[in-house]
Amino acid sequence: IEESVADDIARFEESFSGINSRFRLINRIGEGTFSTVYKAEDLEYNQYRNNWDIDEQEKRKWSSPGHRRRNSRRPHYVAIKKIYVTSSPMRIFNELELLYDLRGSDSVCPLITAFRHLDQVVAVLPYFQHRDFREYYRDMKVPEMRLYFRSLFTALRHVHSKKILHRDIKPTNFLYNPAQSRGVLVDFGLAERLGTEWQQCACTLGAEERSYRVSHSVYAQTQHRPSCYPKNDNRSSRRANRAGTRGFRAPEVLLKCTQQNTSIDMWSAGVILLTLLSRRFPFFHSQDDIDALLEITTIVGRKKMKETSLLHGQVFETNIPTYSDNGHSFEKIILWCTSRSSDKNSGVKKELEDDEKEAVEFLYELLECDPAKRITAKKALEHPFLTKDYE
Ligand code: ADP
Ligand code: MG
Repeated sequence: IEESVADDIARFEESFSGINSRFRLINRIGEGTFSTVYKAEDLEYNQYRNNWDIDEQEKRKWSSPGHRRRNSRRPHYVAIKKIYVTSSPMRIFNELELLYDLRGSDSVCPLITAFRHLDQVVAVLPYFQHRDFREYYRDMKVPEMRLYFRSLFTALRHVHSKKILHRDIKPTNFLYNPAQSRGVLVDFGLAERLGTEWQQCACTLGAEERSYRVSHSVYAQTQHRPSCYPKNDNRSSRRANRAGTRGFRAPEVLLKCTQQNTSIDMWSAGVILLTLLSRRFPFFHSQDDIDALLEITTIVGRKKMKETSLLHGQVFETNIPTYSDNGHSFEKIILWCTSRSSDKNSGVKKELEDDEKEAVEFLYELLECDPAKRITAKKALEHPFLTKDYE
């Protein structure tokens, strides 16, 4: 492993006294806005096996037959999530509590245990073998997409049935193993219970939100804002939970709707499907929420965005001349992105493959601007796109 990673591991071991006695840190596997995640071997797995803070049934699910054999010498791997000390205690508690509530599903990565040493909290999860999305998004075939989304929506059906919104669905938070056609949902750092008042959960807003504000103001100071932004806008701003990752946020999140529900996760899943079909990652590259809204407008058109804004009591106006009233179909966008546009000169009209057409039908259900009409995880699992090949 790299020297800098080795140094980081050494520093972590030093600052978190005693962690060495139970875990052998192997590598750093994730570094995000809220945490650093390490792969480690649980040295006392056999000894602690029966003391895990999760119930028997859970343990069986997550222990492979090899691990269950009494004298197994096979190493047992875990993911140690070191939550940054800048996260508020409420936020950390929220994540651990929701993970606890979600136990019992093999599509949500369970919490094995959590420790605190001074101001540092770590969560210990079973290590889940997966592949990096960037390695396969360019060549995943439609039948594999069916399996990917079956697994993702199985996870979301479980999460949503507990009246929990994940709020940050994106490829790095859904660890997928193509060889097993199975994935697990991780990262409940931004998740919340349905109906949580935003004012009350302002404290759970994470680092991204904060860094977003900072970078946004720096951006405003150093760059000329696009001319479509009102110059002296002194209307009071509306407050709503906007936590999540730019590019995966649903229109109602961008429009600061105060009554958001589980359908925001379905939109984000739709963005993943669009990414896979178009072979473009990230598909959206917005600087900020306005930019993100404009990117969606490019696709759905001005008319649809006006209607959508009205649903949330907002008025959408733009003087950018390039937006069409009715936008573009996903078929066309996918053909463009994959360099299969129809050739006007030769008159050759290109079309999507049959199974891509089925995927696009499903995509329309997910990237539906009206959250009330957007498909739910439960219904998605009954959709022909996902039931095919299972009958
Ligand atoms: P953050 O809040 O910092 O985004 P995550 O919980 O999303 O933290 O974890 C960050 C990364 O660490 C993930 O994208 C994944 O690559 C890796 N990771 C997290 N949990 C596991 C796990 N149980 N098994 C394997 N890798 C994991
Ligand atoms: Mg994450």
